[in-house]
Amino acid sequence: MSSQRPAVLRVDALHPEPELLEQAARILSAGGLVAFPTETVYGLGANALDEAAVARIFAAKGRPERNPLIVHVASIQAARALVTHWPAEAEALAAAFWPGPLTLVLPKRALIPSLVSAGLDSVGIRIPAHPVALALITLAAMPIAAPSANRYTHISPTTAAHVADGLGTGVDLILDAGPTQVGIESTVVSLLGAAPQILRPGMLGRAELARVAPTIDYAKSEPASDEQRPQLAPGLARKHYAPRARVMVVEHIEADNDHGMTRVGRLSLHPSRLASSTDPELAIVLPAEPAAYAEHFYEALHRLDALGCELIVIEAPPRTEQWHAIWDRLNRARS
Ligand code: AMP
Ligand code: MG
Repeated sequence: MSSQRPAVLRVDALHPEPELLEQAARILSAGGLVAFPTETVYGLGANALDEAAVARIFAAKGRPERNPLIVHVASIQAARALVTHWPAEAEALAAAFWPGPLTLVLPKRALIPSLVSAGLDSVGIRIPAHPVALALITLAAMPIAAPSANRYTHISPTTAAHVADGLGTGVDLILDAGPTQVGIESTVVSLLGAAPQILRPGMLGRAELARVAPTIDYAKSEPASDEQRPQLAPGLARKHYAPRARVMVVEHIEADNDHGMTRVGRLSLHPSRLASSTDPELAIVLPAEPAAYAEHFYEALHRLDALGCELIVIEAPPRTEQWHAIWDRLNRARS
């Protein structure tokens, strides 16, 4: 982590200023790294066709090379140009959900450097639904490889400040368009097999996807010890979305139980349960509705980490399908 600050440009989230995007596009064309907002989290972008630029992403994140990157494009036509096969399900899912928080894994063409796909024959692609991301990809006129703009295993950034704090001068420029809206990473769907498989759950849930792709299912989890986490794709490592603090998930949160620690942060869905907290700054109430919870979840973890919590106690949300992606991230964050 660098203590120096990277360059940050404040851009309008709905109507990004062309001259600011030009600066970012020039950096990308020269092989540099630009962090930019998508609707899910902030991405750390590089020209996906420039292997040296992509190598800088891995270095800046401290990310192992066995972990593939998602390639961001601005049109279905651009997505098709990156793959050797575009099945009917890809057409249907893309038509229904792009631009949006859905990544499709398809057989890759040779023009994509193998570093992007971690040596796999497939590539994850999506069209992000953020005006800044779309305008930047269009202006730069290239597919942009962009994992979340955080150090490896840390929590994904939902603000430009999270990116600056985490990556320092490892990034050449950050485009700041305010907090992201979905708040957790995209749903990843593999179209390599006979039926579409959800490799990583996201806020675009199975029920919605099944309306377009009725045979879709979650990828089978592998070892029983590995709970709900699919292991078919690299990058789905156990501790992958974790704050620095220890994380515990409990059924009933208590405002005063410190679990033997001196600085304990708490996340609850019920304001009344944290009302008597000794340190109100460390007691955060999150919305009881899944989309709004996801929007603010990483921000809450970032805040408690920054406040120096040793332990974060999280109250278990409902165990329904709508909370599936949030449970996936909770399970990865807890230690
Ligand atoms: P991130 O960009 O940090 O959100 O992580 C990218 C994730 O996308 C990886 O961890 C994988 O889960 C998934 N992914 C990207 N490309 C592929 C691929 N070719 N095959 C399987 N999963 C992929
Ligand atoms: Mg990530």
